[in-house]
Amino acid sequence: MSGLYRYRDPRAVPPGGKFFYKDPETGMEFYKSTHDGLVESVAAHRKANGRPVPDNLSDIIADWICRRLPDGWCIDSATGAANMNTGRRTVTELLRRSREAQRAPGWGQGAWNAPARAAICARCPNHVPAVGCPGCVGLDDQLRSMLQGFELPNLKWLQACRVSGTFVAIEVFSDPAPEQPPTGPGRAAYPDHCWKSEAYRKKYLEGKP
Ligand code: SF4
Repeated sequence: MSGLYRYRDPRAVPPGGKFFYKDPETGMEFYKSTHDGLVESVAAHRKANGRPVPDNLSDIIADWICRRLPDGWCIDSATGAANMNTGRRTVTELLRRSREAQRAPGWGQGAWNAPARAAICARCPNHVPAVGCPGCVGLDDQLRSMLQGFELPNLKWLQACRVSGTFVAIEVFSDPAPEQPPTGPGRAAYPDHCWKSEAYRKKYLEGKP
């Protein structure tokens, strides 16, 4: 039976140079140079906001980070198996691919529909966290800059699409059925419930604009 993940080498600082955590109840984000400093800050924040502080907060936080760190950085405390985030990409790679998507022809034309698309992505099993530390690369600022003034509700909660390899916040403004097939995964890679599949079906199979 598997347990919580813990760091393989507790002295090693995660890529990006910070230990990081997002409180699931308050949404507050923390970045600290030590794990203990991070746990202290999270505990103080929870106390100040009238939230319980679990006895094993340190273990919970380590497990949370391990699920966002590169493969092999952590081990399962019960089985010793390495953490595997198979199919997930690093923040840096996602940013690079998102920039390519944002520069593709037709990006921004679907702006009126972007919030509805984002709501579909938010419920999709392919909507996954990035591997790495988003705050360390200033992800929010980079996404805002790429969005060029377009707004999305709940931007902070949107993560990455495992199929396109881009951040959903950028992808939902793309042209879902471009004249030229996009580079990257083919249509078949997207599930039926995906807004891209629906747009493609309408345009190419039913001949609707
Ligand atoms: S597969 Fe489609 S619906 Fe799912 S996250 Fe990716 S773009 Fe969104």
